Amino acid sequence: MKSLQQLVFNNTYSQLPSLFGTSVTPQPLSNPYLISVNPHIAKLLELDINAIQSDDFVNIFSGNDTLAGFDPIAMKYTGHQFGQYNPDLGDGRGLLLGEVQTSHGKKWDIHLKGSGLTPYSRMGDGRAVIRSSIREYLASAAMAGLGIPTSHALAVIGSDTHVCREKQEFGATLIRVSESHIRFGHFEYLFYTQQHDQLRLLADYVIQHHFPECQQVEKPYAALFEQVCENTAKMIAHWQAVGFAHGVMNTDNMSILGLTFDYGPYGFLDDYNPGYICNHSDYSGRYAFNQQPSIGLWNLSALGYALAPIIDKSDIEHALEIYQHQLQMHYSKLMRQKLGLFDSQEQDNELFQQLFNLLKQQSIDYTLFFRTLSMLSQDELDNASSHFSSLSENTTAIDEWLADYKKRISNTDDQQRLALMLKSNPKYILRNYLAQLAIDGAEQGNFTFVENLLTVLHDPFDEHPNFEDLADLPPKWGKELEISCSS
Ligand code: AMP
Ligand code: MG
Ligand code: MG
Repeated sequence: MKSLQQLVFNNTYSQLPSLFGTSVTPQPLSNPYLISVNPHIAKLLELDINAIQSDDFVNIFSGNDTLAGFDPIAMKYTGHQFGQYNPDLGDGRGLLLGEVQTSHGKKWDIHLKGSGLTPYSRMGDGRAVIRSSIREYLASAAMAGLGIPTSHALAVIGSDTHVCREKQEFGATLIRVSESHIRFGHFEYLFYTQQHDQLRLLADYVIQHHFPECQQVEKPYAALFEQVCENTAKMIAHWQAVGFAHGVMNTDNMSILGLTFDYGPYGFLDDYNPGYICNHSDYSGRYAFNQQPSIGLWNLSALGYALAPIIDKSDIEHALEIYQHQLQMHYSKLMRQKLGLFDSQEQDNELFQQLFNLLKQQSIDYTLFFRTLSMLSQDELDNASSHFSSLSENTTAIDEWLADYKKRISNTDDQQRLALMLKSNPKYILRNYLAQLAIDGAEQGNFTFVENLLTVLHDPFDEHPNFEDLADLPPKWGKELEISCSS
């Protein structure tokens, strides 16, 4: 395990031509303090946890000090926001500080979110607040725990710098750790500014560092795009299966590696509601939960359009078809696992459709329904609706569905089914109200709730007897929280 000073940097992005970003020094926050650190992410970086619980660390990642090896850069990108092209985007409040190289040769971007003004800040103040930083911090841990591709967060730092949002809040920084911070919007920028040589250079860069296998094939750029389509399909299939709504699927928030990225007004489903809109500022429901698969296609089409100077049209169309196919395939697989089905049968569509109707009509909690089902042996499935009585008032409809389900699994080994279901259906998800309680605590200087959540979210499929309450149904106020883009 290394001290901060022992980290090895290999800053490849900042060596790209100057049009790829602007060198910027972070602006210091006043009286910074550590709110939380995720030991699992420290481990990814081979960083000694003691190095993080030090003043040095807090000073460095609040802009009050620097570290040899940093080469901070605000990345330039553009993108489509709510369907409209915006040429003026880029890291407006974040900086890529440097790229850490581990002893295994793996590369991790260290990004500081909330680091102050950059040339791309537009009307913003370059800051992040405690609320939004904790939301991103916990969400990235939750997604990793669920096995969903995501960016990570090493730590959150608070301060007493005043930041003005809908109310007065305090500035914070989030240390984001990710294999890459390159977005679809990086490519769109080079396409719309007609810098096609640079577009090619960026594609070469991404292939070299992230998709080296594409170098071996006849059409490397087409292979790259196909990989992006596949990874995006897998990511969105996971979102749909677990009940995650991203909330701001603009193309500047889409990772070229298919990582869940830029956590803002996201939400995990409480009651099953396919039209769930988690972003209070999304008036038309463009990014509603059930729109995500088609928005994924829209975003990939925007990326494909930007890559048209270097990829044949037919190859772009082919990759977009692969996206749709892969998404369906992965989603079906994940949903079958949630029901403990080891094979696919013709009547499954009907079984799933009836289940979704049931969950929707009765506003049943999505996560707890599947978790409860994962505890019931075949014998217990007869008249099992009492197990669901806290989730629904009308248990007759549940009993009817359970009878069909029991028939479907009658030839399945029950032990194997239950084992599969327990590792496919989390007990703990990051409900909005839990994130809010963590934020309320942290804003009062109490970080215990953040830590407790971090513990259960890292292993959401396990039992945590000390934290049973974190798996409870949300209280009424918790279902009505309004989360907007303002962060
Ligand atoms: P987002 O909605 O988080 O994807 O952000 C969209 C764009 O706005 C990105 O270019 C961000 O860097 C920028 N941005 C968001 N918040 C701020 C802020 N407080 N100050 C400056 N730029 C910001
Ligand atoms: Mg963004
Ligand atoms: Mg954001």
